[in-house]
Amino acid sequence: MKIIALLLALSAYPGQAVVVEIPFEPELEAVTLEWQAQEIRMARADSGWFALLGVDLDVAPGPYEVDAVFRYAGNRQERRTLALTVTPKEYPTTRLTVEPKYVELSPANQDRAAQDKKRIEAAYATTASEPYWKDVFTVPIPGVTGGRNFGHRRVFNDQPRAPHSGADLTAAEGTEIRSTNRGRVVLTGDFFFNGNAVFVDHGMGVLSMYLHLSKILVEEGQLVERGELLGLAGATGRVTGPHLHWGVKVTGARVDPFTLPGFNASTATPVSVGAR
Ligand SMILES: [Zn+2]
Repeated sequence: MKIIALLLALSAYPGQAVVVEIPFEPELEAVTLEWQAQEIRMARADSGWFALLGVDLDVAPGPYEVDAVFRYAGNRQERRTLALTVTPKEYPTTRLTVEPKYVELSPANQDRAAQDKKRIEAAYATTASEPYWKDVFTVPIPGVTGGRNFGHRRVFNDQPRAPHSGADLTAAEGTEIRSTNRGRVVLTGDFFFNGNAVFVDHGMGVLSMYLHLSKILVEEGQLVERGELLGLAGATGRVTGPHLHWGVKVTGARVDPFTLPGFNASTATPVSVGAR
């Protein structure tokens, strides 16, 4: 019953990634979690099983259930329901000014943005079922501080837009941008809003993206290690100046990169980094 007690303690706020760990059990061969219409197969570690779940920015606070299917040797199967409490979190509002073409889209740019969205969503859907990622995630620009503007409500040129779905890191043009963890490059290209961008699949529904680059230095299909060079920072796409937008999706949810394993989310103080 220790397992149930452990899992009952799951709690997260919108925009947070949660680590789910299940201790080793004899004869347990597989565990699958179902959360927000996504199925996640837990991975085996030395001490048990693990997975990451993402709570999207739009998930309303309240009690939720995660279905877990435990498969044991001899075709024995057990269904358990894990409670996940989503706690409220208030995010500040940021107002910024960008080129008008990024707010009032021309028909051609509307088409382009729609095409981009399709390509990006297709890339999200190709996540590997096994983990490429391991241990801890790291900041794509080693040693840089800031970037605590995930989830900010945003008003561009006085018009409300979608909330900020990543962390903006201060970076001069040409700064080296490195992969937050091991993964496979699943998409690169020049996108209307994102500019030059690299998308990395870390497996098990965990993907990271690096936007507004001046230069892309990897190719689709390439396996990259944690800290491996992906490209150079720039100011392409919808920006107010050079910086890195570092975004992360976990099980389809937009989460703050600083809530991934390796960062202490509870000490992440949200501060505005200005117009990004
Ligand atoms: Zn950004």
